[in-house]
Formats: sequence, C-alpha cells, structure tokens
Amino acid sequence: MSDDTISVSCQLITVLGSTGSIGVSTLDVIGRHPDKFKVFALTADRSIDVLAKQCQQFNPVYAVMRDEASALQLRQKLSISNCQTEVLSGEAELVNVAQEASVDSVMAAIVGAAGLLPTLAAVKAGKKVLLANKEALVMAGSLFMDAVRQNNATLLPIDSEHNAIFQCLPTNCRAGDEPPGIRKLLLTGSGGPFRTWSAESIACATPDQACNHPNWSMGKKISVDSASLMNKGLEFIEARWLFDVMPKDIQVVIHPQSIIHSMVEYIDGSILAQLGNPDMRIPIAHALAWPLRIDSGVKSLDMVTLSSLDFEAPDLTRFPALALAMSAASAPSSAATVLNAANEVAVEAFLNNRISFGDIGILLDSVMSTAKLWELDTIDAVLDLDFNVRRSANALIDSKISA
Ligand code: NAD
Ligand code: MG
Repeated sequence: MSDDTISVSCQLITVLGSTGSIGVSTLDVIGRHPDKFKVFALTADRSIDVLAKQCQQFNPVYAVMRDEASALQLRQKLSISNCQTEVLSGEAELVNVAQEASVDSVMAAIVGAAGLLPTLAAVKAGKKVLLANKEALVMAGSLFMDAVRQNNATLLPIDSEHNAIFQCLPTNCRAGDEPPGIRKLLLTGSGGPFRTWSAESIACATPDQACNHPNWSMGKKISVDSASLMNKGLEFIEARWLFDVMPKDIQVVIHPQSIIHSMVEYIDGSILAQLGNPDMRIPIAHALAWPLRIDSGVKSLDMVTLSSLDFEAPDLTRFPALALAMSAASAPSSAATVLNAANEVAVEAFLNNRISFGDIGILLDSVMSTAKLWELDTIDAVLDLDFNVRRSANALIDSKISA
C-alpha cells in the first residue's frame, strides 16, 4: 500500500541540530513529503556550509547559529543565493524557535546538555517533541517528565530502542504513562565496535577506531558512547523516565546485528519486538507521522537473507561505563546529571587526543565515587551541577596531563 492513501495534515517543524546525523536524516524524510511538512527553523552549532544548503532547499523562516560570527557568514552566503531565511544567533533564539506559537513539532537533535533549554522550551510550549537528544532527559530526569505532563506536550522517542519500545506498547500509551501489564523492557544494543576486544586493547583504542561503529553511522559523541557502552547506559536512564519503569524492570541485551531494536515483555510471557534495517529514518518517520505512517525511504528488511539473530549479556567489567549508568538510574537524581556531564567532558577530551579511551572509565569512576547524591528540584539546580561537574572533570584531566 502506498502512503498516498494516508492523510497527514501539514505540520510546521523546527529542527534543532539540523546539520548533524539525526538532523540530516530528519530533513531527508521531510524532503520526501513536501505536502505534509514545512520547515519553520533550522539550527546548527557552526556548520555554515551545510546549513546554507539546507536553507536553500527547505526555505525556513529562520536559521539559528550558535554564535554571531557564524551567523554573519551564513547571512552573507544566503544573500548571494537570494535565500529569504532570516539568520539569528545565540541560545535565546534557539529557545524562541523551539517555542514559537505557530510551530507544531520540534525535532530535538542537538547533541549533549546544550540541547536541554531549547528542548525544554518546546516541551513547556506543549509541542509535539521528537526526542533524539537523550542527554537532556538523562540530566533532568523527573523534572523533564513533569514538564511534559504539566504542559500536555507529546513526547515521541527517536532513539531507535525507545522508539521500538514505544511501538510495542499499547497504542493509547503516551511517553510518561506507566504502561499496563508490562513485566520488563528489553533494551537491545549492538555491543559497539569493541564488543569482542580485550580490556587491554579497548583501553588504548583510538578515536577513529571508537567512531567506526559496525552498524550505525552517527555523530562522534554518540559513536564514542556506543564504543564505551555509555550510550546503552544513557539509554537505560532514558527508558526509566520515558516509560516510567523501575530500573530493575529494564534488561540490557547485546544483539550484534541491530535488527531487533528493542522488545517489551508482558506479564503473560508475550514478547513484542520491533525490527527493521538499522537506519534512523525509520524512527524519525514514525515519530513525524505518528500516529499514522509515512514512507521513510528505507528499503525492506529481507528476512530470508538474514543470517542469524544473536543475543548475549553485556560485559560490565570490560564496559564499566554501563555499570555506572545502571547504578545511577537507581540513585538520587544528581547521579545521572553528574555522570552525563563528566562523560561529555571525557568524550571531548578523548576525541581531542587529550586522554586515552581507558581514561574515560577511570575519570567517570573517580567523579562518581565522590559525587554528592541528592534530588535536584529545579532546572537551575541541574544546570549549576552540570557546570560545576564540567569544571572539576576538566581540572582532573588537566592535572592528569600535567602530572
Ligand atoms: P551530531 O554531532 O551529528 O549533530 C549534532 C547537532 O547539534 C549538529 O547540528 C550541531 O551543529 C548541533 N550542536 C552541537 N553542539 C551545539 C551547541 N552547543 N549548540 C547548538 N547546537 C549544537 O549528533 P547526532 O549523532 O545527530 O546526535 C544528536 C542527538 O541525537 C544526540 O543526543 C544523540 O545521542 C542522539 N541520537 C543520535 C542517533 C544517531 O544515529 N546519530 C541515534 C539516537 C540518538
Ligand atoms: Mg539508541
């Protein structure tokens, strides 16, 4: 059946982080359905050339760059090509394009804590929020979900595992509702590029090796997180909040082929799974059209040529970041905020060749072992803690390098 038979009313969309891996895949799906989606705003950190091309193709009302110097360069590029998009800059403008009254949906695809305020602005404005930016939910946990409920926002998971779980839940279940009749969530993960490596080889892996994911093509930060299994740890915390389940009811299962994107086990013993080729356009198209369906551009999964589907338990000794995240999920909320901030600093230092891959786990362990644990009750408290942890994690790295 073609999707021409399905009518989705035209949605006005802001894509936060449009030049990244998720942003580009989002615009690929949107570009296939010009009758169903119009772009209100596109935003980027500093990727001027990519954003210029996206503005020429999608003609958004606004483009937002992180700083004014980049915005100036983008304005010059767009004026030469006669593109009418107005170029803005700074975090306040990111917040404005996320909460603007005429916008229906916001794709939250900025990487890291930088996405928290604009994503939360979209939530507070009661938008349909397509959440790729898992760090925003991990660092703010229950405060984020409270804002979703209080403002009647519609939160749709883009992370392939959480989108799979969402698709396996009863159709009237919304993110933040406690799903009925569930025994546990089975969160699958490929195991990353170092799944079969020894601890010694993992410890001295290079950034290129860490970013060489076997099944998915992604931005650098999530690629490194996938190599350390911190990504699965962040997803564990993400699942805890999105689906209102206790950490003891979430099981991480390593599934190297990345064909089953996660599963839900019900109390009668039934297990429902969502399968598909590993291509983020599937969850993106699902969330864009939800509760209907549209073409994502992804080819069919050929079940006949699939060799096998394998499953194994994660190795928490070779991948200590996953263990740290799983215990943070059961601790007072400051634990996840601290872990996320320290991890962002560690990953950046690793990508800049300042520390080794093995140092990521050592740094996280050191920060978590001294972290004060308490319940954060405001977003300002979350942001203060995030700032302070970054400062001390950077100081730890500096002291290690100068030692
Ligand atoms: P990416 O690095 O490819 O893109 C990040 C985007 O955010 C870019 O547009 C960049 O310009 C923008 N950005 C970065 N720092 C910024 C800042 N300080 N202020 C404003 N904008 C900033 O990352 P990605 O792989 O697309 O991932 C984006 C988010 O989606 C992450 O939270 C990631 O965990 C999540 N996610 C990604 C995938 C994937 O397949 N790539 C899958 C699941 C979830
Ligand atoms: Mg994922």
